[in-house]
Amino acid sequence: MPWDWWLSPWALGVLGLCVGSFLNVVVYRTPRILVRQWSREAAEILTSHEEVASTQAVSATEAKDLAKRAQALLDGLDRQPPYSLARPRSACPSCGHALAWHENLPLLGWLRLAGRCSACGTRISARYPLVELSTGLLFAAVGWHMGALPVALLWCGFVALLLAASLVDWDTTLLPDTFTLNLLWAGLVAAGLGWTLPLNDALWGVVGAAVGLGGISKGWKWLRGFEGMAMGDVKLLAALGAWLGWQMLLPIVLLASAVGAIVGIGMKLSGALREGRYVPFGPFLAGAALVVMFAGQNRVLHWLGWA
Ligand SMILES: [Zn+2]
Repeated sequence: MPWDWWLSPWALGVLGLCVGSFLNVVVYRTPRILVRQWSREAAEILTSHEEVASTQAVSATEAKDLAKRAQALLDGLDRQPPYSLARPRSACPSCGHALAWHENLPLLGWLRLAGRCSACGTRISARYPLVELSTGLLFAAVGWHMGALPVALLWCGFVALLLAASLVDWDTTLLPDTFTLNLLWAGLVAAGLGWTLPLNDALWGVVGAAVGLGGISKGWKWLRGFEGMAMGDVKLLAALGAWLGWQMLLPIVLLASAVGAIVGIGMKLSGALREGRYVPFGPFLAGAALVVMFAGQNRVLHWLGWA
């Protein structure tokens, strides 16, 4: 088989189905792994009662009491079974039935089970196969768009990280640094190696996002007293700048804001948005980035009448 067959849209589509299956695990477990990690860090700080008392926010006795409770939390965390992206194996959240390899097959596993756990019959969310299908289609689209070149794999990685970050943000309104900062570094390295765009465009993309969106966010906080934009969104936009260039920052923000506002208003009117919650911005930034990636810089600037 010629090597470029492996980079054809079909092959990348199948790869995407498998990557999508892994993304489901990543999206489900990453927030849970982070909460464990943060709980441990917070408890470790609280166990040094002299330092806690030095803040003068609590008395020395209260600090000692907090340290005792924090130690109990640390002991409890130590007793938990290991939890990572690799362990334990995927299981039904309802009855704990560990998935057999054929139940774990992307798309096919869910279809064969008709969306129900084989052991207890509990419904398995259609989101899992949908994420697999979307990843497969996006990877195939990248292959079709870029041609059978190794750089297509790089852009598939970009798409996969964006998808994972968006879903985690949608579920939890957290945009973890593991996604945004790794995407940012990878984008700069890819540009530096001459695989994507001129390094200058990538660097100014990062700086533009940090100064532009970061500045707006800080200014908003200064004026109104709360963050208008989470720093996770700023880091995500900086990463997008590293991959797509400073020229695409404004088009991405404009498109993401327009679509995000429409969806937000729709959710508010339909009552889908719970009280006190907000629509995360990350998924819209990521979606706009995909539009810009597939359309290409020239076409986007032409649409906006800027070139
Ligand atoms: Zn089950």
